[in-house]
Amino acid sequence: MPSKINWNEDFLGVAYRYFDLRMNVIPLFYDRKKATDIWSEYVHWWTDHDIKLRFVESDDKYWFVIASETKRPDHNMAFFKILPKSENYTRFKKGHLGEAYFRFATYSEKQENEVKDNAVCQCTHEKEDHDDNCQIDGCKCEKFQTFELRIFKKKKTITDIKFLEEQDIKNDSVSWNCFYVNKFKNSI
Ligand SMILES: [Zn+2]
Ligand SMILES: [Zn+2]
Repeated sequence: MPSKINWNEDFLGVAYRYFDLRMNVIPLFYDRKKATDIWSEYVHWWTDHDIKLRFVESDDKYWFVIASETKRPDHNMAFFKILPKSENYTRFKKGHLGEAYFRFATYSEKQENEVKDNAVCQCTHEKEDHDDNCQIDGCKCEKFQTFELRIFKKKKTITDIKFLEEQDIKNDSVSWNCFYVNKFKNSI
């Protein structure tokens, strides 16, 4: 790893989905053009077998860290984001079997009048169960909210995946670099 890595945390979050038989790790963007540009400028040039995906856990949060050597060494970008541990994250951790696809997606919130009656709300109940509030017994949802993911076709294959605790990162150059640049540097 070169010591100077350009770390990007300017994305919304990460989705974990089964798709094409493998688990997919999917950073989410609002802006399709921006996501497409970042992919073709940087990720496109990554070397698959060198992609390193790290999850550094700390209490109920984790650092998502991904980086790779590139065929254009002077022009690279790596990604990180501090995220709450979620059900989907836990499912990925248990189910990835050492491999995953990496792709981008755009995330957009949908208005009630843009979706069908069987569209599912964040509260897991369908649109037709809502009348402003969700009408399902015991549900506290106050407003129907749903979103759409548009997953890009382009992908990279990741085979180097590690789950770490913060005390382990000194032995792992990618996560060490990420913490050094984005956490320790400002607090020293
Ligand atoms: Zn709801
Ligand atoms: Zn509900």
